[in-house]
Amino acid sequence: MSLEGRRIEIRGTVQGVGFRPWVYRLAVEEGLCGRVRNDGRGVTIEAFGRPEALAAFLRRIETEAPPAADVREVCEVGIPAVDVPGFAIVASDEGGSRRVSIPPDLATCPECLKETADPADRRHGYPFTNCTHCGPRYTIARDVPYDRPATTMAAFAMCPDCRREYEDPADRRFHAQPIACPACGPRVRLLGPSGERVASGDEAIAGAAAALAGGRVVAVKGLGGYHLACDATSSGAITRLRARKRRDEKPFAVMVGSLEAARSVACFDPAEERLFASVQRPVVLVRQRPGNGLAPEVAPGNPLVGLLLAYTPLHHLLLEAARRPLVMTSGNLSEEPMAARDDEALTRLCGIADLFLAHDREIENRCDDSVARVVAGRPTVFRRSRGYVPRPVPLRRPVRRPVLACGAHLKNTFCLAAGDEAWLGPHIGDLDNLEATRAFEEQVERLQRFLGIRPEVIAHDLHPDYASTRYALARPEASKVAVQHHHAHVASAMGEHGLEGPVLGLAWDGTGYGTDGTAWGGELLLVEDGSFERLATLRPIRLAGSDEAIRQVWRIALAALDDAFDGAPPLDRLRLFQSVPSRDVAVVRQMVSKGVRAPLAHGAGRYFDALGALGLAKGRASYEGQVALEWNLAADEAETGSYPFDLAEEGGLARADLRPVVRAAVGDLAAGLAPARVSARFHEAMADVAAALVRRAAREHGRLPVVATGGCFQNARLAEGVLRRLQGDFDVRLHGEVPPGDGGVALGQALVADAVTGR
Ligand SMILES: [Zn+2]
Ligand SMILES: [Zn+2]
Ligand SMILES: [Zn+2]
Repeated sequence: MSLEGRRIEIRGTVQGVGFRPWVYRLAVEEGLCGRVRNDGRGVTIEAFGRPEALAAFLRRIETEAPPAADVREVCEVGIPAVDVPGFAIVASDEGGSRRVSIPPDLATCPECLKETADPADRRHGYPFTNCTHCGPRYTIARDVPYDRPATTMAAFAMCPDCRREYEDPADRRFHAQPIACPACGPRVRLLGPSGERVASGDEAIAGAAAALAGGRVVAVKGLGGYHLACDATSSGAITRLRARKRRDEKPFAVMVGSLEAARSVACFDPAEERLFASVQRPVVLVRQRPGNGLAPEVAPGNPLVGLLLAYTPLHHLLLEAARRPLVMTSGNLSEEPMAARDDEALTRLCGIADLFLAHDREIENRCDDSVARVVAGRPTVFRRSRGYVPRPVPLRRPVRRPVLACGAHLKNTFCLAAGDEAWLGPHIGDLDNLEATRAFEEQVERLQRFLGIRPEVIAHDLHPDYASTRYALARPEASKVAVQHHHAHVASAMGEHGLEGPVLGLAWDGTGYGTDGTAWGGELLLVEDGSFERLATLRPIRLAGSDEAIRQVWRIALAALDDAFDGAPPLDRLRLFQSVPSRDVAVVRQMVSKGVRAPLAHGAGRYFDALGALGLAKGRASYEGQVALEWNLAADEAETGSYPFDLAEEGGLARADLRPVVRAAVGDLAAGLAPARVSARFHEAMADVAAALVRRAAREHGRLPVVATGGCFQNARLAEGVLRRLQGDFDVRLHGEVPPGDGGVALGQALVADAVTGR
């Protein structure tokens, strides 16, 4: 019998996800001998056996990998056959990079769920059950390499049963660092508002479930922090939570315990269902099923709901006991970071939560839930945090020197890049409070340490007043690079898709500081090798009172109307202005006409605000982007009409003039056309504008690849409309795992800074 040998190198997310024990079992099943080990870049296997068995082994590696693994590349070479006894898992090769060692957190796997549900299993009802396929990872890591003593599980000594599983290569829990059982692992407890213990173990979960069913607010310690939970079917409970959390209308995420429960709440297509049930378990935005029983206060006026499938055994047990979908929102006050430590939760959530479902496994790294939606048939991550962090983004070209990019001001994340990988940090949030700034600094320091990266180049936004900019400028490193916001958006999309440029980058969002000091955000940029040329933008609108206009969107609508109708718009025919006092109108008009505290804004998002305010007759947003979002969701799917616009050019810069759009929409509204149809026509018009700007630029610069980026491309109708118009003639790329919004710009900043400093 002839033996052959193969060395198989596997790249991707293959560490900390049960890959080696799985390879071991596969090899044993196929009758192979040899060894498997982790190395600096993934997993290496040396396998020996009959050619058919080796072929079957390879095929199964490529097709049957554990759910949490992400196999990016399999390289195989023939090596001389050696006769070794059996198959072995051998110690990691310490010589390589340490950068792959901490995996992201993984949702509870089906096997572990089965065990917790089985009365005969020793882990029956145990809320911390996990294995190599699932459980906490990044959120419990204190240091590298990712081994139990360097996690918050170090406090728990393994019992003999767990130890046996941990040491058995054939066991699903072989080297599962957070391994635990009721005899040796963490325990759950229910605390009252002053931290006094109310119940422990099963009774704690039952007590929390009963309180939730009774309409109370319970703080629940999850993987990356505390959630605030309440009954998602109870208007009273949600209203109470909103009042205490000081959150008026921003939608709450809802957690369910099973796919069946999810299907009764929302309508899923197959791509949405896959995303929803993925190991990353993001909050997925899906269409609500009519009569789904959710209280309207969950997401007022919103046909979508952010739905999330339970991702720890504790969540599963709680949902099962509560027997209803639960609101699960970050445990914080409005925009502060979520609470992660028990003492922090007890102080910061005091007065919001009636009870605390806590436990004694500490959360080392705060990590919010991720948020995603299927756009144009593909998963698009809007907020990239738990489940994704710290998985690297592979780079097509290695960076020359390690870079830290400090990100944007709102929805901040930062980015570290070294070699041919970039790591986006967890979602930090808006950097306009002390807590968030502190969390930002702490997380930067941590991820640097985990990855062993000492940045030599610091990238930051061009805006001089951002907290992230001030932080960057205060860093000791000599090399600082300011990157224009929309340039960074485009570069982030290029980085995600491995595009070197030149590309035509459509960067549409609410606002970003331009090189001329005005607010940009309706940009078409030609981007190549660290530099950009601004090819086109939108006719700007004045924002009366600057930031105040972003909440009081009627001000933006008024400025757009005055511009479109030469100062004489038919306000009396628009429902919006029936509720705005005429003296307020007069004040804003003064500001706009004199240009006092009324900066020019080119952001595409501002047109969504303006038209949304007019169409929905809604003058105020209770959070940034609310009116634009509701305007998007209002669009009638069957309506395909559009509105006209003009294109002009000024000093080499093309400008889309949207005044005809505004006039036509106002005409339709005044004539009584349903707002849903006006919204649809407006969306079609915006997609027409984007496509026209791209085609115009292509006449001069050729049919370059096109990327569509910026917060506006979270808007599925716009993104799909632009794609439909350009596909076929252009290679058009939308975002996937890197957020189109400001949570993704840090990646682009890092890549631009690298290109600039490498010159
Ligand atoms: Zn598991
Ligand atoms: Zn144990
Ligand atoms: Zn932006």
